[in-house]
Amino acid sequence: MSELDEDIDEVLIDAEQIQATIQELGQAIDRDYAGRTPILVGVLKGAFPLMADLARAIQGHAEFDFMAVSSYGSATQTSGVVRILKDLEADIAGRDVVVVEDIVDSGLTLNYLLRNLRARGPASLEVLALLSKPDQARVDVPVRYHGFAVPNVFVVGYGLDFAERYRNLPYVGTLKDSVIARA
Ligand code: 5GP
Repeated sequence: MSELDEDIDEVLIDAEQIQATIQELGQAIDRDYAGRTPILVGVLKGAFPLMADLARAIQGHAEFDFMAVSSYGSATQTSGVVRILKDLEADIAGRDVVVVEDIVDSGLTLNYLLRNLRARGPASLEVLALLSKPDQARVDVPVRYHGFAVPNVFVVGYGLDFAERYRNLPYVGTLKDSVIARA
């Protein structure tokens, strides 16, 4: 048991389940984009492990780019106003774009991002999200490729952080109350 594992209350999705699902998502992308070269857009920082594993689960041609966004503080999060901290390098006009997200909670971040990207004139625009909290969805964002539904609890691991830590866990789980209280 690692130093990080000791802080976990419950493992919700283990590493094997995550990897198996990513293989299936990669196959679905291969099928749907056969003969084309989609651009996968990872939303930093949370999507970095997912992008790395998904990239290797895709057998066909694909390009990879990243965006970094931040919501304006929690008080204004409901406004769905998102600041772009790092923009794409690629011009996505006329391209097939797949936005890759770690988790969709209220859907507000993704909703903003999709509007922003749609304005750039891609040929197609789809979303892949490893996790979602369906009970929470305040904005109905169309997630074409989906991994797992998680309950309405705060989760860490596989890219998801608590105060920037725990992103490097290979699984998704909840933190012990004592760890949250300590912060
Ligand atoms: P939304 O705009 O959909 O409400 O929020 C999406 C973002 O909130 C995610 O990309 C993620 O950064 C963060 N988030 C939502 N739920 C969780 C969670 O349970 N754990 C962590 N670590 N981040 C979360």
